[in-house]
Amino acid sequence: MAYHAGTGRQPVCGGLFPGSDLGHKYFCAEPTGAAPAGLSAAPTSSGPAAPAGTPRHPAALGGGTGGGAAVPQPHSNAASEVPSPAEMEPDRPIGYGAFGVVWSVTDPRDGRKVALKKMPNVFQNLVSCKRVFRELRMLCFFKHDNVLSALDILQPPQIDCFEEIYVITELMQSDLHKVIVSPQPLTTDHIKVFLYQILRGLKYLHSAGILHRDIKPGNLLVNSNCLLKICDFGLARVEEPDPSRHMTQEVVTQYYRAPEVLMGSRHYGAAIDVWSVGCIFAEMLGRRILFQAQSPIQQLDLITDLLGTPPLSAMVSACEGARAHILRGPHKPPSLSVLYMLSEGATHEAVHLLCRMLVFDPNKRISGSDALLHPYLDEGRLRYHTCMCQCCYSVPSGRVYTRDFEPEAERPFSHSYEQSLLSVWQGKELIHRFITEHQQGKRVPLCINPQSAAFKTFIRSTAWHSSKVSRKEER
Ligand SMILES: [Zn+2]
Repeated sequence: MAYHAGTGRQPVCGGLFPGSDLGHKYFCAEPTGAAPAGLSAAPTSSGPAAPAGTPRHPAALGGGTGGGAAVPQPHSNAASEVPSPAEMEPDRPIGYGAFGVVWSVTDPRDGRKVALKKMPNVFQNLVSCKRVFRELRMLCFFKHDNVLSALDILQPPQIDCFEEIYVITELMQSDLHKVIVSPQPLTTDHIKVFLYQILRGLKYLHSAGILHRDIKPGNLLVNSNCLLKICDFGLARVEEPDPSRHMTQEVVTQYYRAPEVLMGSRHYGAAIDVWSVGCIFAEMLGRRILFQAQSPIQQLDLITDLLGTPPLSAMVSACEGARAHILRGPHKPPSLSVLYMLSEGATHEAVHLLCRMLVFDPNKRISGSDALLHPYLDEGRLRYHTCMCQCCYSVPSGRVYTRDFEPEAERPFSHSYEQSLLSVWQGKELIHRFITEHQQGKRVPLCINPQSAAFKTFIRSTAWHSSKVSRKEER
């Protein structure tokens, strides 16, 4: 849940933070971080016709002769060897993805339930074109068990009819937000294995030079066996090494937004994701949102209530107005001991790690990879690699463990192509070629079955998010 279109640059907080343009960025932010991104609204506008052109006789998704009736097959993933009730259900919309509608569908090639994500409005303008292409390339780049990746992309129609992109990913049963607000128990063991996997995935992303920029419980998908995958790369971007380059502040759901972003820092790095993880860690312990504020300024106030007034050295990148706001207020001492009251699981070790993540100064905040070395995560690592991972295996004499428990990306994610992307048409050609090349030599390509009633709805569905999004050039 992010930003409405058309609200423009209305300086709502401008009075509080004079001299900065912090206001407009927050005006349209909905402080609804607790809500999962979901398909809640009815589709509002019609999309283009169903994809045409099936030169390689692709299999059709979406009922009729295709999907629903097929028998679910075991997943390759150990996480889902037993078909869950969700896997037996017919195609239906499910709710994750900041930009796009996601459906649970059956792959007619093997009867497996998968998630189908529609990336709409791709070619509306150059910004959305670049954003979607970036997300698509990322989904195809990722090879990590704790990061959601593309299993397949639906065959695009001929370029003249090419308007939307459909990506298939693994289907997960729930997300961490739903788990946290549910009555089901969340033991210390659960928390440790979840946190381990979040950081394991994050280390991989950061090693590829990618900032997620919207880490929140709703973007952490989980299976019933506690396997966790980071999803939704609609806001992700490559780390910017040049501190003089400005980056957008229209990132991260407010409750999980790092203080440097709240304070209008024009340049930030991977530490913003670690802050979000710290908030989620506390939320798992206490089963409520740690900093649940009504506005970005109150968000900052809640943070300083806990951490105390930051020293000037921690605010060097802050905008003048935000710094003045902090300095104008009363001096606050830190009150970190309240973290012990989050729950019984808030042991000394847990609070120690939490306090390393919730550091005001991003330069002093622990990194994702260093957090993994904290003793609090030893049990989570052991549990994960004993019975959940794909990197270790069992032999009669015992378990053979991988050499690298928390692997990094083999290479950084490259975004050099973005520089040369100058027009929507050029982007369309590039994306079309990318998908076609990606499919070569793979399984029978899939396309949408235009006769399917469910897919008529799906095709019409325009992202309730991205249709509302009005962004300036995203950086
Ligand atoms: Zn393993």
